[in-house]
Amino acid sequence: MGLEQIKTRIAAAEAASGRDPGSVRLIAVSKVQPPERVESVLQAGQRIFGENYVQEAQGKWPDWRERFEGVELHMIGPLQSNKARAAVGLFDAIHTLDRISLARKLAQQIAEQGRSPQLFIQVNTGDEPQKAGILADELPGFLASCRGLGLDPKGLMCIPPETGDPLPHFRLLRRLARENGLQNLSMGMSADFESAIAEGATHVRVGSAIFGARDYG
Ligand SMILES: *Cc1c(COP(=O)(O)O)cnc(C)c1O
Repeated sequence: MGLEQIKTRIAAAEAASGRDPGSVRLIAVSKVQPPERVESVLQAGQRIFGENYVQEAQGKWPDWRERFEGVELHMIGPLQSNKARAAVGLFDAIHTLDRISLARKLAQQIAEQGRSPQLFIQVNTGDEPQKAGILADELPGFLASCRGLGLDPKGLMCIPPETGDPLPHFRLLRRLARENGLQNLSMGMSADFESAIAEGATHVRVGSAIFGARDYG
């Protein structure tokens, strides 16, 4: 695989579903990848990256941001409340707003730091007990609570169950976004980003298909 092939496949998927060219944003998921792989993708012009761990991102990105103009960082992993300060300071978007206690912390940090990462609400579309995210039924109430805190989430994010067809999950997320007046849909990973694009994804999160397999060693 690699960056160029993925960009070509995204463009083809946009065209196939009548989407405007460039309407899908590619988030290159660089968690635990060796620095030289990330650096070569930066050299190739990619600027939007996703990370799962605040501490890892804090260690890697300040340097790259100095060397490469226009880097945009997206937090796509579960966010602990005690990392809210660091996350608001570092990230341009947070895809994993999944509970009211975190919403409170983020609102507080956004006010304090005068920095406003774009927010996505994570939805547990598969109703999986072990997975983070708001249940579909709870979304309207949660959104209202977020707005009450002064937050203005602009989109939804999901991670479909590991097995089975992701399509119904993409469809559910799209319907929820439409019903709740939200523009952005963060869905689709290496294995399924094309079907996510067909269902309206605005942000796809692709890691291993760009960088190669992750080695958690
Ligand atoms: C790691 C991760 C990805 C990237 O997964 P790949 O299968 O390597 O593309 C996407 N989204 C989330 C939330 C992740 O944690």
